[in-house]
This record gives sequence, C-alpha cells and structure tokens, in this order.
Amino acid sequence: MLEIDGSAGEGGGQVLRTALGLSLATGRPFRIRGIRAGRERPGLLRQHLAAVRAAAAIGEARVEGDHLGSTTLSFTPRGLRAGEHHAAIGSAGSALLVIQAVLPGLLVAGGPSRLVVDGGTHNPAAPPYPFLSRVFLPLLCRMGASVELALDRPGFYPAGGGRVVLEVEPAPLRPLVLLERGDVLAMTASAITSGLNPNVAHRQLLVLRDRFGLGREALVAETVGSPMGPGNAVFIEVQCAHVTEGFAAIGERGRTAEAVATRAAEEAEAWLAHGQPVGEHLADQLLVPMSLAPGSVFRTGALSSHARTNLEGVARFVPLPQRVVELAGGGVEVGLG
Ligand code: ATP
Repeated sequence: MLEIDGSAGEGGGQVLRTALGLSLATGRPFRIRGIRAGRERPGLLRQHLAAVRAAAAIGEARVEGDHLGSTTLSFTPRGLRAGEHHAAIGSAGSALLVIQAVLPGLLVAGGPSRLVVDGGTHNPAAPPYPFLSRVFLPLLCRMGASVELALDRPGFYPAGGGRVVLEVEPAPLRPLVLLERGDVLAMTASAITSGLNPNVAHRQLLVLRDRFGLGREALVAETVGSPMGPGNAVFIEVQCAHVTEGFAAIGERGRTAEAVATRAAEEAEAWLAHGQPVGEHLADQLLVPMSLAPGSVFRTGALSSHARTNLEGVARFVPLPQRVVELAGGGVEVGLG
C-alpha cells in the first residue's frame, strides 16, 4: 500500500485526485493522510468525497475514511468497471474536478463508459466546462482515446445545480508531443451568463475586444439558463496551428464585469507572450494522462507549484523518468518516460 502525505507540496485536493486517478489506472492501492492539510478547510469537501465515491464505484474499491471532513483515506481498487456511472456532488463543487479524478481509470478500462456528474460546471479555481471540452479533452483524443463531454445543464458557482455527461472510449494511449504552438489562427471571446443583465456580457466583451483587437464575429454572448441562480463566465479561446488553449474567469459577487474579463485576458496575454504551446493550467492537467503514455513531452512558460506537486504525485504511482529542463530561450520542457 502506497503511503501518501497529503500535505506534501501544495497540500491541496490535487494530491488526492491524482492518487485516485492513478490508483485506478495502475491498480495500486494507497493510503493518504493529511488530506488538503494546506487548505483553510482541510479534509474531504463534497467535491472530493464525490470523486472518492465515483472512483470507488469505477475501481470496485475497498475504501476507508470516505466521509466529509476526513483527513485520512485508504483506497484499494479491486477491478475496473467500465459502463454507466453517476456522481452527485450535492453542492456547487466542481463536476469537472470529479471527472479529472476518475478519467485516468476510464481511459484504460476494458470498454466504453458514460459518467454523469451533477455539480458546478463553471467554478473558480477549477477547469470550467469549456476548458475541458475545447482544450483538454481534444488533446486526449489526439493521444488516441475518444472522449466527449456534453453540458447538459450549466451550474455556476456559487449555486451549482449543473450536469455534465462524459463519454469515454478507451484506446491504447499514444505519447503526446507538444513542443510548438504554431501561428495563431483564430481567437474568440465568450461571455457566458445566466440570469444577469445583458449589459454584463456586453461590458466583458468590450474589454476583450479592445485588448485583443477582436472583430464582431469573434465575440460571443451566450445566454444560458441555469436553474439554480445567476452566473457569469468568460472564456477566451486561442486556436493555434498545433494547439488550442483557453483562459477562463468566473464572475463573483462584488467583482465588476471588467475585472472578470481582465483576469481572463491577463492569463491569455501571459500565454501569448511566452510563446510556448502549453499554459499554466493545461500543464498540470496533462501530467496524469501523459504518465500513461511514456515518451510524452510538452513545453510551457514556467511550471507552477501546482504542476510540481502533480509531478511528485505522478512519480509515486508511475516509475517513469521525469525530465524538467529550463530552455535557453525561456520556458520549460517537461518529459515523462
Ligand atoms: P482543492 O481546492 O480541492 O484543495 P487544489 O487546491 O488542489 O484543490 P486548485 O489549485 O484549486 O486545486 O486547482 C484545481 C485544478 O483546477 C488544477 O488542475 C488547475 O489546473 C485547474 N484550474 C484552476 N483554475 C483553472 C482555470 N482558470 N482554467 C483551467 N483550469 C483551472
């Protein structure tokens, strides 16, 4: 049984999610102590508990410590069950982070799966729905898997109430090689709102129009109906010759429309400026699937502490050589295997 210190590195939920996913994918049991010790409210929150339960169902696992607030968990997978699965977070916790936690298992399961997750679909500090569907999952498809995500119902932070449906058809994963961004081919900015004055979307799109010189056709005001409450998300998508990246920001009470748009814009600008294909969030999220496809390599601007924590998490389960090289002209190359 692998012993994991949940306070290692960032000491956040990622240590647990990576362990769950790679335990499913490799069959290795683990025990984690000090879950989310580095966070203000340590232990399992609803999102993490839903991920544990979904992983347990998929991995037919024996689990101890799966209750709210728990700081210790043991997880022993005893199989890998493809097919129909359902996870309900029971709060606005991120549905996409539940998917992040269990996807490695579904990618190597013996058949196709369909996973329905009820929870938040556009949350701060988590990949929002468009990031997974437009940026992350297409790269998994490039690795050979067939993975699709549908937004059944949006659920915005803080109310939640959304639903996403993931369909996975496993295939042997090919290494991902992402060394060049290539020319920028297209850029679009979306303001996705629910139950708000249309002026909010309009003001956000004006900020993005002016910062990036976007034409009318590149600005999308998407009004959606979230059953639970109002919501606001901005998503900037940049399609390049070799990769599509995306930059999101989520509206919160007290934050102006302009501030929300500016936050997403600054991330996009930082990525455009460093010229490497992989952005900060994509970098940490790619490490887990890459560990299942030795020979994978990408370049990014700089590795976040989140990504470094995730590299350590990956190393516990997958004994591949890891290569992190500072590039002469700026940027970092990360290779696994
Ligand atoms: P927890 O809050 O559960 O303890 P954590 O602190 O470990 O989790 P975060 O640092 O909040 O986790 O990040 C969770 C995941 O969400 C990471 O994979 C990160 O890349 C991703 N993420 C955060 N913000 C964004 C964003 N704007 N766009 C895409 N992905 C994001």
